[in-house]
Amino acid sequence: MARTQDLPATFGYPACRVVEKRVWILDMEWKGRRGSSNVEDARGRSGGGGSIGGGMGMGLLSLIGRKFGIKGILIAGVAFLLLWKMGIVDLNMLMGGSPVASSPAKISPEEQERFEFVKVVLADTERVWTEEFSRVGEQYSEPVMQVYRGRTQTACGAGSAEMGPFYCPGDRKVYIDLGFYDALAQTFKSPGDFAQAYVIAHEVGHHVQHLLGTSEKVAAKRGQPDYNEWSVRLELQADFLAGVWAKHNSGYLERGDIEEAMRAANAIGDDAIQKKSQGRVVPHSFTHGTSEQRMRWFNKGLKSGKIEDGDTFSMPYSQL
Ligand SMILES: [Zn+2]
Repeated sequence: MARTQDLPATFGYPACRVVEKRVWILDMEWKGRRGSSNVEDARGRSGGGGSIGGGMGMGLLSLIGRKFGIKGILIAGVAFLLLWKMGIVDLNMLMGGSPVASSPAKISPEEQERFEFVKVVLADTERVWTEEFSRVGEQYSEPVMQVYRGRTQTACGAGSAEMGPFYCPGDRKVYIDLGFYDALAQTFKSPGDFAQAYVIAHEVGHHVQHLLGTSEKVAAKRGQPDYNEWSVRLELQADFLAGVWAKHNSGYLERGDIEEAMRAANAIGDDAIQKKSQGRVVPHSFTHGTSEQRMRWFNKGLKSGKIEDGDTFSMPYSQL
């Protein structure tokens, strides 16, 4: 029976094949390659509490204004500036923005390496989708990826690390807390670079769906009894799109286990779905489809490499 060790050492698509329901693919060679410039490093920023601080600051000022008039506000302003100069208060608190950490975040070499890694993966998606969109006569607009820690503010509401990586259509950003990869490594023995790259490719897939208007069509089904099915179709298509990304990057991929990658991504919460109607982010409360379905659609993308072959919406649900 063919197992991974029987596969040729230099295989890539089309030699890449299903072996006992598993797909073996090359892991990633990424060092020394170009990273994306669309990455926002928000690791030194705390997303929590900013609006509360701002609200308090402004509330206090209007109270002083009512009681003591403009003179009172001026005196309070001078006092605030003095306190700010002495480093006791944060100017951002008054302005309503997020307080900026006064000392730069401590970043370990391992974390920095992950940061460089996700930049390269994002650059790969930019290249692939720019080519694919132009092939079908469309223009791709690149998403921004925000790397944050703990909590962050998004156009879709508050995001937190527990949600895992997610995409917010409201600001066209992919959000990721690199600690997600620690969780991935703790739960699975060796998730490998491929699993780490796959979750980004899947989220960028949601961005592609947003550009094509697919996500919004599915969002419009919210509240209908078959909404869950529409969501699964959307998720499987994002897996297909991740497969298209993998096909175009097969030169950089090394042996790894896609099924494990997908199971890993699934088990750690995967992405969170943005609730556009309510303007907030909520973790997944529905299934993405079985891991077998996800692998099948990923494989379809890997085989075809073409954006138009990923129609998960026309076929009967039972045949997905
Ligand atoms: Zn998803």
